[in-house]
Amino acid sequence: MFRYLRLIQITIITCAIFLITHSCKKNNSKNIALEKNIETQNSSPKKPNIIVILIDDAGYVDFGFMGSKDLETPEIDKLAKNGVVFTDAHVSATVCAPSRAGIMTGKYQQSFGFEANATGYGDSGDIGLADKVITIADVFKQNSYKTIALGKWHLGATETDHPNKRGFDEFYGFLAGGRSYFPVKNPSREHMLQHNGDRVKFDGYLTDVLGDYSVKFVEQNKDKLFFMYLAYNAVHTPMHAKKSDLEKYKNHPRQKLAAMTWSLDENIGKLTKKLKDLNLLNNTLIYFLSDNGGAKTNTSKNGYLKGWKGNKFEGGHRVPFVMSWPNKIKANTTFNGLTSSFDIFSTSMAAANIPVKENSNLEGVNLFPFLNGDKSGNPHENLYWRKLEESGTRHNNFKLIKLKNFGHVLYDLSNDIGETKDLSTTEPETLKLLETNLSNWETKMMQPLWQEEKEWMDVTYHIHKRLMKNKKAQYTTPSQQKKFLKSKK
Ligand code: CA
Repeated sequence: MFRYLRLIQITIITCAIFLITHSCKKNNSKNIALEKNIETQNSSPKKPNIIVILIDDAGYVDFGFMGSKDLETPEIDKLAKNGVVFTDAHVSATVCAPSRAGIMTGKYQQSFGFEANATGYGDSGDIGLADKVITIADVFKQNSYKTIALGKWHLGATETDHPNKRGFDEFYGFLAGGRSYFPVKNPSREHMLQHNGDRVKFDGYLTDVLGDYSVKFVEQNKDKLFFMYLAYNAVHTPMHAKKSDLEKYKNHPRQKLAAMTWSLDENIGKLTKKLKDLNLLNNTLIYFLSDNGGAKTNTSKNGYLKGWKGNKFEGGHRVPFVMSWPNKIKANTTFNGLTSSFDIFSTSMAAANIPVKENSNLEGVNLFPFLNGDKSGNPHENLYWRKLEESGTRHNNFKLIKLKNFGHVLYDLSNDIGETKDLSTTEPETLKLLETNLSNWETKMMQPLWQEEKEWMDVTYHIHKRLMKNKKAQYTTPSQQKKFLKSKK
């Protein structure tokens, strides 16, 4: 009996030892697997998807996150709240095409002759990206990203300028600088909505059509790494909005802009929701910015900034700029250093761990060290602008604007953000420094490869002349100019 009990005891103990050892082993192997997983994540973190949302001609303060009280942008505000808002971020031109050329190449567009917005004369050359310049899409395509350009291109309409030839696997948009938001019967090759060169007939409202395609693309490519350049033509003229949105804002003083902005916001919301539903949002680096300052023609507001689209005051080139990447960027933060749209190229490469090749001459900097506190101060000490007769430069908080055959003004933005007090006579040394910087920069640029319409050049010249003297512009479009000149006769 005793022997029998002893046998049971031994069996129980053996079983217990076996169970404990086995479960320990199991736990142990689990821990090892977990450690390995963390190790893998640390040594080669998963690259992010990248989305550049570029909108058109929007005002500096026309978003909730920038302080707008009358335009509603809940989805874009959510994106801003999820990331960092830059308060002193600039595009490299005050009009559409050259600004886009700067973003797309990460270089001053004047370095390859892309200075003017549109070709004005038969013999002034065609607008287009120089063949030799590498685009951000080229780089990401070479690094196994699926690349897509959506919406407005405006970087040339010849065969070699086509997005499919400039690094984009897919193009779903139009080549021109603007178009109707509704279907057009016989659109030109430049104005038609196209998919990789083939005309697409669509129903409905273009902002919705582009938004829907952005969602579809994400769905189709959810298991791949992708780079998306999502260039809405909203809120550029023509001021077309959907009936339902116009109804929503029927008593709004800026009814059409409010309606167009609402639709834009809704479609950006569709995209972020899809990313969230697919569990991709946290590892997607999203930029949101406008291609130039708010325009006069679409009733945009630039708030306390002086000037608007087309001129060298801050209102022409300082833009709303957001970066969101929940896995890496702290939410709900602001960054006040001098930043450029060139930084999109360099920062995206850093995010994807793509080394910068020698001689790539990128103008941008990687913003991450500035965001995480490893570096302090301004990402850029100097920034430069030039379009034909007007040029300008920032040196930290100082700003110089030059108008050919007229003169210059110097401002200190640290206490004069509205650019009203000209310091060029009281701060001669600062003036000299900025003038030298600007002329040194100009020696590295080339002559523009095409000019611009004379009417627009005259209007722009007039606006600069007046605003530099703190006077109101007497006309802001060629048709207003015509009327003005007629009344003077
Ligand atoms: Ca624009």
